[in-house]
This record gives sequence, C-alpha cells and structure tokens, in this order.
Amino acid sequence: MSRKYNFCAGPAALPEAVLQQAQQEILDWHGAGMSIMEMSHRSEEFVAVATEAERDLRELLSISDDYAVLFLQGGASTQFASVPLNLMPAGGSADYVHTGQWSKKAIAEAKRYGDVNVVADAAASNYSTIPAFDSWSLNPNAAYLHYTPNETIGGVEFFWEPDVNVPLVADMSSTILSRPVDVNKFGVIYAGAQKNIGPAGLTIAIVRRDLLGRSQVGCPVMLDYKTAADNDSMYNTPPTYSIYLAGLVFKWLKGQGGLAAMEQINRRKASKLYDYIDNSGFYANPVELASRSLMNVPFTLADAALDKPFLAQAEAAGLMNLKGHRSVGGMRASIYNAVGEDAVDALLDFMREFARSNG
Ligand SMILES: *Cc1c(COP(=O)(O)O)cnc(C)c1O
Repeated sequence: MSRKYNFCAGPAALPEAVLQQAQQEILDWHGAGMSIMEMSHRSEEFVAVATEAERDLRELLSISDDYAVLFLQGGASTQFASVPLNLMPAGGSADYVHTGQWSKKAIAEAKRYGDVNVVADAAASNYSTIPAFDSWSLNPNAAYLHYTPNETIGGVEFFWEPDVNVPLVADMSSTILSRPVDVNKFGVIYAGAQKNIGPAGLTIAIVRRDLLGRSQVGCPVMLDYKTAADNDSMYNTPPTYSIYLAGLVFKWLKGQGGLAAMEQINRRKASKLYDYIDNSGFYANPVELASRSLMNVPFTLADAALDKPFLAQAEAAGLMNLKGHRSVGGMRASIYNAVGEDAVDALLDFMREFARSNG
C-alpha cells in the first residue's frame, strides 16, 4: 500500500498517524472487545472520549468557560439556518459580508428567517479581494455580523477580525485549527469537520453562553444551540465515530506543538506555493496578496487546454484531487493541516516539470 498526496478540498486528508491508530483500535477499543463506534453514546467509555475531545479542542483554541462547545450534525450548511434561527429575533435583521460562494449560500439561507443586510460585496473584483472594513455599511442594531474567514472555493482569507459591537459569527469550516484565533472576539464560530477537524458527519459550534436560549419560536429543537448545550451534545445520538476521530486529530495537533506550530508550517507551505506560482510565468493566482488563503490555493495554467493533461499527469505522479471547483475551473490545491510540507514539495516539483515541458 502506498498513500498518495491528497489535495482534496473536503472531505480532506487526515493525518496518517491518526488513521493508523484508528485502524489499530477498530476491532477492539482499549480492551473493550468492541469498536468505539459500536458502543452506546451514553456509555462511560464514549462519554469519556467525547469529554476528552472537547477538553483538547478547548486547550488548542484556548476556549474559555464563557463558551459552550457543541458537537452537532448537518454540516456547515445546516448552520446557515441555525445561526439566524438562534440569534435573529423575529422581525430582526442581521449583517452579512459577501466574499464568495460560501458566504453567498449563508446569505441566501438567512434570508428565509429574517432581514439580511449585505454590508459589503466583493463582486466588483470577482471575489478576489476582501472589501476594506471602512467601506462596510454596518447596521448598529444588527442581531449579529456573519462572515466567512476563509472562502474555500475562491481561496480568499481574512487575516483580521471585523471589529463590531454586535456578536461576530464566523463560518470557519476551512480555516479552523490552521492557526491560533482569539475566540473571545466571537459570538459563534462554526465549522464542518471534514476540512481540518476530522471526517464528515460532525459539525462543531463554539457558542458564547449568553447567546443561548434566544432562538426563534419555530426553531427546530435539534437546531437550537441550547438543546445541545443543555444535553452535552447528546440530545440524540451524536456522530460518535467522527467525534472519536476528531479527538485523535486534536491529540495529533497537540503533539505537533499546537496551533502556533501549525501556523508556522502552514505559512511555509502556502508561501512556497504562492511564490512559485507568482514567479513561474506559467501559473497564476487571482487573489490579492493580503488575502490569499493559507489552506486553499486556486491557480490557473497559462492555457486552459493544458488542464486535462496537467490533472492526468498529476494523478499519475500520485498528486490527487487538484481539479478546481466546478464553478471556477482551473486547479486548487487544498493544503490543510494534514497535508504535509512533503506533499507541497512534491506538488512544486511536478508543477515545475510540467511548466518546463509545456511552457
Ligand atoms: C465546505 C464548506 C461549507 C459546507 O460544509 P458542509 O459541511 O458540506 O455543509 C460551508 N462553508 C465553508 C467555508 C466550507 O468550506
């Protein structure tokens, strides 16, 4: 067996050491004579696994007791509804920043539940920039401000947090755990697990406790943050195996030196890639310099007719899932935490060789 380099945007690569541990434990978890995924979610064993996963996540992100950490389902897409249902009073209004395709979806969903004020829209730059904060038309009475710190498809990332007087809500699906973040600046942070946390099926929400218990009248019990908070995320059966695997990833991250260490590695990986693309005269990345994502690096080739041979030869070289999102074309290398520097080096070697023989 040889593992390939996986640049998939999500579900994404997992650390090999985590997969090996899961493999070792799959038939007999810690001498229990069964897999952790075969146990009751209310068993002493599984509750300990979930509790430890939460503790490790709190440690990695320095999450204070002012926040509830919720293990949910439904993906980030369900959070697009949960956020307004929990935070927007009936007849209320919320502010949204439109920086790309995921914020667009969040906006469309929120409109079903209340009034949405789009404070800024990067359409003029074809979503390759982040509109300057002083140009945003903020509503001082907004229930919250929602933004997407990393647009996974466009490869546009915020390296600053909007400084607003209303609760700040962030879809961190593709940037969470890639570098330290000051959780105290946020009302709600949410993320689907399958980019940088673990396998699909788990969604994490970090909710400031004073925002619990404010849901709209029609909010489904399962989408009410208070339900999850009051029941330790076990109102119904949680995605137990995904929680277990996420817990292993958290331990792995701690072993790597935590998020400050991951940031150094991630910055090195990304800058190698962007530096080469910018200087290649063959590849190009459209995103403004200050907003280039550390996790998702889209790029185009000098001639789109070369896309197919590029992808075919990349796969033959063991470099998988480099095809860009269907809506934008070109290529995209997603270089999440579990994609090592060796993978980026292998990609760069391939890109240089391909440019040499086709340039
Ligand atoms: C992947 C992604 C989503 C969608 O996540 P699902 O878990 O599939 O619903 C939403 N927002 C961002 C930023 C993403 O990267």
